[in-house]
Amino acid sequence: MTSKETKIEERIVVPGEFIANAKTVTPGKGTYVQDDRIYSLYLGHLRFDAEKSVVYVEPFKEIIYPKRGDLVLAEVISSGNTIASLKIWFLIRSISNKEIIFSPLNKPFSGTIHISQLGTRTESINKLIKTGDKVLGVITTDYTLPLSISIASKELGVVAANCSRCGAPLIKKGRLFCLTCNKPDIRKISSLYDYEKFNGIFRIYKPKQYITMEVE
Ligand SMILES: [Zn+2]
Repeated sequence: MTSKETKIEERIVVPGEFIANAKTVTPGKGTYVQDDRIYSLYLGHLRFDAEKSVVYVEPFKEIIYPKRGDLVLAEVISSGNTIASLKIWFLIRSISNKEIIFSPLNKPFSGTIHISQLGTRTESINKLIKTGDKVLGVITTDYTLPLSISIASKELGVVAANCSRCGAPLIKKGRLFCLTCNKPDIRKISSLYDYEKFNGIFRIYKPKQYITMEVE
């Protein structure tokens, strides 16, 4: 391995951005490795220690506080008659056809969806949003906790969900459907529903974010 010849350009990186092959440099703080490829865990500055051949990412220090109008990705903690409680884990910076640019928050924020913010009528919110669902929503309040979230538009709502009977990932066939139970499992879904994509964000970034916080 001729690591001295490897040169990494220092720059600003976003979460999930490819940095280098793990066979050529050593992954340091603020990175993660998947299939021998090093990616950034944070939005921040990519640094390269050429002597040790280590790459690391220094996250931007300012505390990001979700505010009115921000798109967020959240996980449902509980769902009752009129209110669902969520933990907001990610701020969404933009979504295109193939790509979601997002920032993991330094810590999760508490959020709620009121039954009036579903964009559809139901007798009980837990018929359309269930514990464990991943939800794309928009913040409607400023600086009051829990933050109020609305999912009252076509693009907003559940973006990844598991079957409430057997736990299998639900696929979108017009409405959500469980191939194992061979039954629909109804939610207020987003037009962007994509189990792999959105569940993957939680699977990759959420636990590592926690671990990093606990170590520091
Ligand atoms: Zn099922």
